[in-house]
Amino acid sequence: MTDEAEIGQPLAPRRASRRIWLGKVAVGGGAPISVQSMATADTRDRERCEDQLRQLQAAGADILRVAVPDMDAARNLGALQRAITLPLVADIHFDWRLALTAISQGVQGIRLNPGNIGGAAKVREVAKAAKDRGVPIRVGVNAGSLEKRLLAKHGGRATPEAMVESAKDEIRLLEDEDFTDIKVSLKASDVSTAVRAYRLAARAFDYPLHLGITEAGTLQGGSVKSAAGLGILLAEGIGDTIRVSLAADPIEEVRVGLSLLRALGLRRGGLTFVACPTCGRCEADMIPVAERVEKRLSSLRGEVHVAVMGCEVNGPGEGKAADVGIAYGHNGVGLLFKKGEIVARLPAAELEARLVEEAEKLAK
Ligand code: SF4
Repeated sequence: MTDEAEIGQPLAPRRASRRIWLGKVAVGGGAPISVQSMATADTRDRERCEDQLRQLQAAGADILRVAVPDMDAARNLGALQRAITLPLVADIHFDWRLALTAISQGVQGIRLNPGNIGGAAKVREVAKAAKDRGVPIRVGVNAGSLEKRLLAKHGGRATPEAMVESAKDEIRLLEDEDFTDIKVSLKASDVSTAVRAYRLAARAFDYPLHLGITEAGTLQGGSVKSAAGLGILLAEGIGDTIRVSLAADPIEEVRVGLSLLRALGLRRGGLTFVACPTCGRCEADMIPVAERVEKRLSSLRGEVHVAVMGCEVNGPGEGKAADVGIAYGHNGVGLLFKKGEIVARLPAAELEARLVEEAEKLAK
């Protein structure tokens, strides 16, 4: 039998990594694993982008990223960073001048690959500017855009070994400029490739690792894929910050990322939610209630365990680990329970609102 004290305990010691800071958020060196997401709004549309970044912050993200396709987008970065209290990361490809503008605009992180911004002199300029402003750089290796030279060397395939070699080459370009404020990602859309690449990287260097399964898919499929890949790595103690990439509203990325960390005992606080699957005993339309309650309470900061159960026979008992829960019953009546003890009998129509009220009170 599982000891109660063992429930929710992390599965493995965390890999030792260096600590870097994105603004006030620590990454690596034993810092809490942070959840990232990326705005889908056009960075050139300042108002829309600010709006979305604020929503992602309210949903509980720790670090936010925006694409920087051109100079118009880069010039908006200062305003976007000021619109939120979280660190903003500028995602840059090919043009080193965008990186310099992003840094001067005051972003708190850059994602780029030193190998694709135009040579050693440009890397030097960017590394110098980033160092002067204390802005870390994420080396973002992606299986889909690996250098041709490395593909040729590794049999024409983006193998885990090829990905790690790419990361090491990119890191070396920054280290040559005496820049070590680095984190690294090695994303692939194939779970097995990504997991093996991160395992190799975890042994190859001690920079913090940003985990992700890239182009994972839509809300359901992408969440499953990300939970599988990131779950394996996190359970092995690998990973300092994560992004669940979804072809969905990015708020879902934040929700799924937070749920994943909570499920592995790597994040305290916020909502832990259980709902029974329902069966022939359930006389209410419970599943939409469970969906609404979870959505409504998902951005709570305080720690609270909530249960939505389909019947009074097993409801309070099955949900006894919950701080507060409801169980539907017979003839339009249901139960409100706390810690498995029934505290009120209520009309079924009132259960949902009462549960939300009680959970919000407890979370404060
Ligand atoms: S709590 Fe009741 S309704 Fe839900 S699965 Fe268990 S027996 Fe069925």
